[in-house]
Amino acid sequence: MKQYAAMSREELLEERENLTSLYKGFEEAGLSLNMARGKPSPSQLSLATDMLKVLDGDEIKSVSGDDVRNYGIVDGIKEAKVLMAEMMECDPENIIVCGNASLNIMYDMIARSYAFGVMGSTPWCRLEKVKFLCPVPGYDRHFLVTQDFGIEMINIPMTPDGPDMDMVEQYVNNDPAVKGIWCVPKYSNPQGVVYSDETVKRFAALKPAAEDFRIFWDNAYCVHHLYEEPEKQRKIPDILKECAAAGKPDMVYEFGSTSKVTFAGAGISAVATSAANIAEIKKHLTVQTIGFDKVNQLRHVKFLKDRAGIDEHMMKHAALLRPKFEMVEKELNEEIVSRGIGTFLHVDGGYFICFNSLKGCAKDIVARCKAAGVTLTGAGAPFPYGKDPDDSVIRIAPSYPEINELKKALDVFVVCVKLSSIEKLLETK
Ligand code: PMP
Repeated sequence: MKQYAAMSREELLEERENLTSLYKGFEEAGLSLNMARGKPSPSQLSLATDMLKVLDGDEIKSVSGDDVRNYGIVDGIKEAKVLMAEMMECDPENIIVCGNASLNIMYDMIARSYAFGVMGSTPWCRLEKVKFLCPVPGYDRHFLVTQDFGIEMINIPMTPDGPDMDMVEQYVNNDPAVKGIWCVPKYSNPQGVVYSDETVKRFAALKPAAEDFRIFWDNAYCVHHLYEEPEKQRKIPDILKECAAAGKPDMVYEFGSTSKVTFAGAGISAVATSAANIAEIKKHLTVQTIGFDKVNQLRHVKFLKDRAGIDEHMMKHAALLRPKFEMVEKELNEEIVSRGIGTFLHVDGGYFICFNSLKGCAKDIVARCKAAGVTLTGAGAPFPYGKDPDDSVIRIAPSYPEINELKKALDVFVVCVKLSSIEKLLETK
């Protein structure tokens, strides 16, 4: 396959003409396709419909004997703690089971640190400057939370092993204004990167300049594998144990939810952390709520049962998702990577494929797709303040559309990437 960069001006102009007529065809077809948000498809949601039927008759009591229909048990019923601990691979005593979604818990953790301070430290709202490290590209909603509180966000480049740890250590160990870092350690959003063992251990070995520095370890995709082979279901060390072993048990908050296991936004969520942090969180939580939805907690336990039940259920998701991801990767490789006009990392799990265009093309590609009826996540979204310094990252979310729709959307995407790349290359030919 001839690389676009190696083509003459004339060859590029001819290619552009062919592609433009294809593009016009898409425009005329009046498409309305969406590859923007990482939502489960209707078929995936249907995998958990039976969860709505598991509670009847007397099955409304927790193992503790408490009636889940009533107030109380602010930190979650025992069996839900066990289930979430199995999913997040930590101990049930480190868990608080919360409400319908984990982003809420993350927002609350920042809000409490801002208003009350962390374990007696100065509340962040009274400090001149509060900074957060943001591995990029990352999850747009993390960045929106810290932006909401006026926290200054610092880009940390991602590597195939996780965030650039030299930079992380430099900031965390020397700047007391750095209070936290957003991490998605497994199948990261949007690159699908799995942190290496060394990265996890270097996180635990941090020596923060700020006593109230915390790692926000969002393990949103811990069981979201695309493949059944054990070697593809990547294991990472338990950050809670690593931090405890390094003498800093309070340095990390881990988050998880069943949003993409059962129902998105109607699952159960949890925070896992040290005993001291749990006590601190509960102090405020008991003021905030009398208890989360324990009926849904019990429903989840009855439906998923245990880790083996979760793994079995996740393989049903994988069977629906895998063909979509493989199709996207194949088409990108054949049409784009082979022509030297873009790259991406292969993923073994999670919800996204992260495409890197030639520098300065991402916004243009997204706009071209939009005009032809294909909605993508806004270029820049995976960066703090929506600013991609290279204007090259586009997050592709293959989960929601049915596969034939996804194929159509991808065909449009490929043509837009090619057209945009040709325009960029013509600038210097
Ligand atoms: N964290 C990450 C990294 C995500 O990608 C998502 C969903 N896109 C969430 C959290 C949201 O999870 P929840 O529904 O539990 O708030």
